[in-house]
Amino acid sequence: MQGLMMQYPLTTNTILEYGNRVFHHKRIITHLPDGTRRVCTFGDLYRRCKQLANALRHTLGVQPGDVVGTFAWNHGPHVELYYGISGIGAVCHTINVRLSPQQIEYSINHSEDKVIFVDATLVPLLEKIAPLAETVRHYVILNAPADFTTTLEPILHYEELLAEQPDEFEWPELDENTACGMCYTSGTTGLPKGVLYSHRSTYLHAMAIMSPNAGNLSSRDTALLIVPQFHVMAWGYPYVCLLAGANMVLPSSNLQPAALIRILQEEQVTRANGVPTIWLGIYEELKNNPPAEPLALEEYVVGGSALPASLIEAFERDFGIRGVHAWGMTETSPLGTLSRLQPRHESLPPKDQLAVRAKQGIPFPGVEIRIVSDEGTVLPWDGKTMGELQVRGAWTISAYFKTANQESFTDDGWFRTGDVSTIDEAGYMEIKDRTKDLIKSGGEWISSVALESALMAHPRVKEAAVIAIPDQKWIERPLAAVVFHDRRQAATKEELMDFLARDFVSYQIPHDYVFLDEVPKTSVGKFNKKELRRRYAEEELI
Ligand code: ADP
Repeated sequence: MQGLMMQYPLTTNTILEYGNRVFHHKRIITHLPDGTRRVCTFGDLYRRCKQLANALRHTLGVQPGDVVGTFAWNHGPHVELYYGISGIGAVCHTINVRLSPQQIEYSINHSEDKVIFVDATLVPLLEKIAPLAETVRHYVILNAPADFTTTLEPILHYEELLAEQPDEFEWPELDENTACGMCYTSGTTGLPKGVLYSHRSTYLHAMAIMSPNAGNLSSRDTALLIVPQFHVMAWGYPYVCLLAGANMVLPSSNLQPAALIRILQEEQVTRANGVPTIWLGIYEELKNNPPAEPLALEEYVVGGSALPASLIEAFERDFGIRGVHAWGMTETSPLGTLSRLQPRHESLPPKDQLAVRAKQGIPFPGVEIRIVSDEGTVLPWDGKTMGELQVRGAWTISAYFKTANQESFTDDGWFRTGDVSTIDEAGYMEIKDRTKDLIKSGGEWISSVALESALMAHPRVKEAAVIAIPDQKWIERPLAAVVFHDRRQAATKEELMDFLARDFVSYQIPHDYVFLDEVPKTSVGKFNKKELRRRYAEEELI
């Protein structure tokens, strides 16, 4: 028997309508690179999205199902593009501006972008790629200064385009399974692959993140979106804020620690998201230049790579700010699991509580996880057994865009993440490594993530990335690339080995170290192990 409830489409239009009706006075605040601060309300957003919808349909000729690219930092107009493009049934492809020019060209041509909305400051980058972009009919310039010039053509200016349009627009009735957004994976594991989000998956993902066990956002909050809008839709926060009625603060390219701290202070931000390198930078800046007033920031959600327990501890001890560790992938919209303590953990000693918080956490409702052996056996949740992490759920990918990649999916319909994890009795997942980053030394697995977290707990170590290098006797051995806070106060190799000996058995401890000024990073700020392997492991591997 069918239930007798309405078919109410879960679309981004319903999010926009809700934000306008219920929280029209809430604000979207942008800090532009030239120091300008722009404020608009959710009500303004609503009107401007309707103007944009008219422009897309009537001036730019965008049809339902067309893909429209954005090449932009986080700011108000970029949020308008999220809602305006998907609102007419087109697809908002947020191009990752930090990919290599070849990867950017690939993603533009592969997704067949018809129009690209581009920040004036990013135009020089796009000008180099534009001659190779096969499907783009128009470029629309965002945030252009008065003296702006470009070789891109044909061009339109965003504000002029909007100014000509009426703010009346009837949103089409969309099936909730219609595509609304598209991101390409950051290509750490090969060519970027397109992930196509639906209205329904976007809506449900945002609802889940808003909840107290997860991102914990409400109308009392002001959220700073540090995760770029081109990195998995800023982890869904542009949608979450409208549903929660939280003010949204957008830093554009002001991503240096001092600038972020100034914004956190000025806007009295209570929630924020970002990758570990961002939070490490903010912590150091707060230590070196303590603000006169404590920050209003209560907690930050951090993911994308492992958050070292030492950073969670230091932030809370020194500034009373909680780090909430989450895990996800482009393919999981992205958030899949998140770690918060529960009442059952309250009796644990602080060290054990910290260990729980440093795990990647429990799945959101709407997401299922399991770990599976190489032979395909589903493994127990005992906190010890390691296996490949597999996921399924309401916002998990079912196929890549125009790419048959069957090896990413199991026969029984789960997505294979390529991560190796444990899951404990309480359901807390812990990433041990990526399949290709695990080090197999003399037949024993060594977790590079565990070594990195331990090294970064050393008071002199700022960053540590561990990779496998070939070894005649052991096949593979770990090599640690280490960055010190201050080169003049470096630790020796022997000191680091002694430090690790507290937590690791001898075969797990690296004997090889390189000391760097900075660990190379990927387009989304993760340790670039491919580059480290190229520098330190590949010659011998060939
Ligand atoms: P790419 O796959 O191109 O690096 P993603 O941003 O989708 O791009 O990265 C997803 C991967 O990032 C995950 O499979 C996992 O290996 C890693 N990751 C994400 N969050 C965490 C975390 N909290 N701890 C450890 N690794 C993480």
